[in-house]
Amino acid sequence: MLTAEQLITDAGLRPTKARVAVLNTLLTSTNALSHPDILAALQGVEIDRVTVYRVLDWLLENSLIHKISSDDRAWKFQLNAPKRNYRSADTAHLGLLNNHGHAHLHCQQCGTVLCIHELAAHIPQSLFDTYCVSNIEISLKGLCLDCQQS
Ligand SMILES: [Zn+2]
Ligand SMILES: [Zn+2]
Repeated sequence: MLTAEQLITDAGLRPTKARVAVLNTLLTSTNALSHPDILAALQGVEIDRVTVYRVLDWLLENSLIHKISSDDRAWKFQLNAPKRNYRSADTAHLGLLNNHGHAHLHCQQCGTVLCIHELAAHIPQSLFDTYCVSNIEISLKGLCLDCQQS
């Protein structure tokens, strides 16, 4: 299992305490997390909310994480799948597919969001040639295992 620090250095970037702490929170969570979720998980770590926002933006810019819109209008964040990382050589739409080309399971009761990397978009190149796509999201909605049982 890769550590958060390795993920940052492997991408040729500089790990700081805050960057490692935020990325590690996502790395160790199965679900996608919102900004408040991340803050709550970092209790006891010396990091303020503004720094967490800044670190999340930085991680997004560097394609280490992606954001997912959720029903409560708060963004949720999760790691990009490393093997689908088309850094450098790519065109804008490959970056888009990397960030959002996979599906998300949204539980309509508890609001958890899970990345499903096995289910990915197959979007024909002709679409990108004719349409300026700024965001791709594939959502599956329903009830998670916990909510089915309660
Ligand atoms: Zn649920
Ligand atoms: Zn995802």
